[in-house]
Amino acid sequence: MIWYPYEQMKTMKSPYEIIDAEGVYLYTKEQKLIDSVSSWWSVIHGYKHPELNQAIETQLEKFAHVMLGGLTHESVRKLSDKLQSWLPGDLDYCFFSDSGSVAVEVALKMALQYYMNREETQRTMVLALKHAYHGDTFKTMEVGDDEDYHFVLKAHGKSKNVIHIPTEVEAMEQAFEEYHDRLNCFIVEPLLQGAGGMRMYDISFLRRARELCSQYGVLLIFDEVATGFGRTGNRFVADLVLPDILVLGKALTGGYIGHAVTVANRKVYEGFYHDDPSHALMHGPTFMGNALACSVALKSIELFEKHNYMAKIHRIEEITHREMQGFSDPRIKEIRMMGACICIEVYDSDTINGYQQFAYEHGVFSRPFLNYMYAMVPYVIKEYELVKVLRTMKEWFSASR
Ligand SMILES: *Cc1c(COP(=O)(O)O)cnc(C)c1O
Repeated sequence: MIWYPYEQMKTMKSPYEIIDAEGVYLYTKEQKLIDSVSSWWSVIHGYKHPELNQAIETQLEKFAHVMLGGLTHESVRKLSDKLQSWLPGDLDYCFFSDSGSVAVEVALKMALQYYMNREETQRTMVLALKHAYHGDTFKTMEVGDDEDYHFVLKAHGKSKNVIHIPTEVEAMEQAFEEYHDRLNCFIVEPLLQGAGGMRMYDISFLRRARELCSQYGVLLIFDEVATGFGRTGNRFVADLVLPDILVLGKALTGGYIGHAVTVANRKVYEGFYHDDPSHALMHGPTFMGNALACSVALKSIELFEKHNYMAKIHRIEEITHREMQGFSDPRIKEIRMMGACICIEVYDSDTINGYQQFAYEHGVFSRPFLNYMYAMVPYVIKEYELVKVLRTMKEWFSASR
C-alpha cells in the first residue's frame, strides 16, 4: 500500500497513473498532459531528455554509486568544481545530500556549529520568515511556518529558538536590534516563497538583510531549493545578493534523481577548518554525491548554459504577462508573476475546487493547493503550450462562474 504525500488517505481521490513522459508531456492511458508543475518544480528540461538520459547511462556503465566516506569519484569532483566556478562570490564549498530538506538541515547545522566552534554559545537562535517553507524534517518544520505542521506546536509548544518575521524591513530591523547577539543565522527563501503560497517580495528586503547580517555577524542562508536555476527570472537570487550559505535542490538534477547541495562560503568553511577533530562537520548522508545524480546534474547545468535558459525564462515571463494582461475575476485576490512562476490567489479555496480535474480534461496537469492555483512550467515549454496552460487557468474562472 502506497501512503501518498500530504493526503488524507481516507478521502483522497486516486492519483493519475503515468505510463510515459517526454518533453513537457505526461501520458496517462487516455490523456496527454502538459506538466505545469514540472514535478514539484524540478523537471526544467522536460522528461526523457536524450542528453540527460545519456549522461546517466554513461555513468551507469562505470558504477551507480559509491559512498563519499573515504572514497571519491570523477562525477562528484566535476560537479563540485562546476558549482564552485558557476556560483557567485566565494560560495565554493559543496556539501552534497539526497534531498532539499536534508540540505537545509545541513545549512542550519553549519550555522549553529560555526558559532559553537567559536565558543559563541549564546548564538542558538534562528531568524526566519512568516509563511516560510524549508522542508518536512523536524528542524526544517521548526524553522518553517506552515500550518500543516501545527501538530508539532501542539506537541512541543512554540520554539524558543526560532523567530518569524514578515518580509518587511522595519520588522527585520527590530528583530536584529532585539536578538542580534543570540542569532546564528537568518534563513530565507529569497524573493519567492514557494510552498507558503508563491509569495513574492522585493530585493531591497534582501539587500537590507545582507547589511544587517554583516553588521551583526549573523550568517545569511538562502534556501534556493525552489528559486535556484532561474525560477525567479534570475539565475540564482544569490547573483544579486550574496548569502553565506546557499542551498540548492529540486532542479539541481533536472528532476531526474533526488539530490541537493549546501554550498558554504570561505568564512563558514574556515569556521570548521581546525586541528581539533570536534570542529568537523559531523554529517554524511548515505547517498551524498551519488554518481548518477552528479553526472546528470552536471549535464543539466551544461544544457542550462549552452541553450541560454535565462533567455527561455525571460520569454516565459513575457508570454505570461501578455496572456494575463487585463484578466480579472471578483473571486481572485491577487495574480502574482515572477520569472517562470505564476500564481492566482483566490479569496476562497472552494473557488478552485475541481480545477485539477478540469485541467486534466483540458490536457494540463496542475496541482492547486489551499487558495493557490499556479504554474511553474518546464523551461523548454513552447509558446503554444504555455498559452494553453495559462488559458486553461483563465477558462476555469469562466467555466465555474
Ligand atoms: C521543496 C523545498 C524544500 C525541500 O526539498 P525536498 O527535496 O522536498 O526535501 C526545501 N526548501 C524549499 C524552499 C523547497 O521548495
